[in-house]
Amino acid sequence: MSHAPHAELLAALRAALGDAHVLTHDDPGADLAAWEQDWRKRARGRALAVARPGSTAEVAAVVKACAAAGVSIVPQGGNTGLVVGSVPDDSGTQVVLSLTRMNAVRGIDAANLTMTVEAGCVLQNLQDAAEQAGFLLPLSLAAEGSCTIGGNLATNAGGTQVVRYGNARELCLGLEVVTAQGEVWHGLSGLRKDNTGYDLRDLFIGSEGTLGVITAATLKLYPLPAAQLTAWAAVPGLQAAVDLLGLAHRQLGAGLTGFEVMGQFALSLVDKHFPQLRTPLWRESPYCVLLENSDSESETHARDQFERLLETAFAQGLVSDAVVAESLAQARGLWHVRESIPLAQAEEGLNIKHDISIPVSTIPAFCAETDALLEREVPGVRLVNFGHLGDGNLHYNVQAPEGGDAKKFLLEQESRVNGLVFDAVARYHGSISAEHGVGSLKAAHLPHYKDPVALALMRAIKQALDPDQVMNPGRVLHTP
Ligand code: FAD
Ligand code: ZN
Repeated sequence: MSHAPHAELLAALRAALGDAHVLTHDDPGADLAAWEQDWRKRARGRALAVARPGSTAEVAAVVKACAAAGVSIVPQGGNTGLVVGSVPDDSGTQVVLSLTRMNAVRGIDAANLTMTVEAGCVLQNLQDAAEQAGFLLPLSLAAEGSCTIGGNLATNAGGTQVVRYGNARELCLGLEVVTAQGEVWHGLSGLRKDNTGYDLRDLFIGSEGTLGVITAATLKLYPLPAAQLTAWAAVPGLQAAVDLLGLAHRQLGAGLTGFEVMGQFALSLVDKHFPQLRTPLWRESPYCVLLENSDSESETHARDQFERLLETAFAQGLVSDAVVAESLAQARGLWHVRESIPLAQAEEGLNIKHDISIPVSTIPAFCAETDALLEREVPGVRLVNFGHLGDGNLHYNVQAPEGGDAKKFLLEQESRVNGLVFDAVARYHGSISAEHGVGSLKAAHLPHYKDPVALALMRAIKQALDPDQVMNPGRVLHTP
């Protein structure tokens, strides 16, 4: 593209947003690294400009200007995504549309149990705002201090409470969206029931910025629990963990709000790199689980229920040892250990990340088969297996062999390891991405694992909503 149309586009963006909110490499002392580098440092792009609109009308103006100039847009929230979906490519011709200035809570409707918020709100700020109003916003993930609700919805984020409350999709009742043509869809209904045609909300949720820009959302709120208890249990194996999950569903009912599993090697890495966290019970058993019980009655009621559950589990041989947190601080400490696994992995060195899902019932067989396969095919491989067992979602990660050159390992083995794991996932009727999405990292894999009819429908939707490829091209759907 010649220089002139870009100059025109930049002028149009500056006119719409003000000079201060359009950043380019030509600005004196410009450093756009924060918008151009992905969280995992897998890719560094180069933006034509970073546009930072402060309102829905300004987002629409940016989209219209870019569409007119034939320039594509990469929407960005907190830039914590793990699949290289929120940073520009290295062509220097894409505009990053950052939503972080759109960070207002538009309103809380207590009787309707909803909260309407702008896309750039940081998740933790929304949790706090809900709590101050006496409610729970149950979306929770380790990136909550910097990820945005717009990014959470664009990736249909999961996290640690999905077993009870569902993922971002299930927490959203309405959206406001700027389409690829720069039109505004006012869909911020707080309705729980609305059967007037195709569900556009669910279409934009999880579309990873490829169909339009989410500018605001109406979210479900829940009453704050009266008490919340956390337990950490050592289990003799994955089958015992699955059986314990079934028991917890039966005995705790809707009180079961978290059920995480952590493999011994994953915990050994936390113990090695963060010994001050005092990782409990990991030495004596192959897996530990973390359970959370949220109770609407009282702390005593929660504790009684929890103790009864653990007694039954001990009696049935599902648990070999357990600790129940005595205080909120202790509970936070246990969750902190769980949430430190990815950081401990990073300390240990480069690794291959997966966020697969398998029906819960077949997870033990899947892991036994795939562990053995990888150990046979990839000498020295170290499996860091942990995740949201309650949802059948495992972070089935692979660490380079001990003492080896991790960079070389990744270069040589990543696509092979991915192939082995994804093929195994397909044999077990699972998904190659349960949480993080497709982005650029998995776009080339998708055609091998997605139902061909589903993939054709996805392409037809993209073509209908964004025929000119303005919105995040090459993400989710590979453009050859
Ligand atoms: P970004 O990274 O900025 O963007 C992600 C994608 O959404 C991109 O494709 C982008 O183009 C698009 N996008 C962003 N905002 C908008 C918008 N307003 N409109 C349209 N498209 C948009 N994910 C989970 O699901 N569960 C977890 O437990 C979890 N844990 C994590 C822990 C850590 C430590 C980290 C770093 C990440 C984790 N993630 C997890 C991944 C990530 O945090 C989530 O995908 C999150 O939802 C991304 O939000 P974000 O605002 O950072 O989005
Ligand atoms: Zn996760």
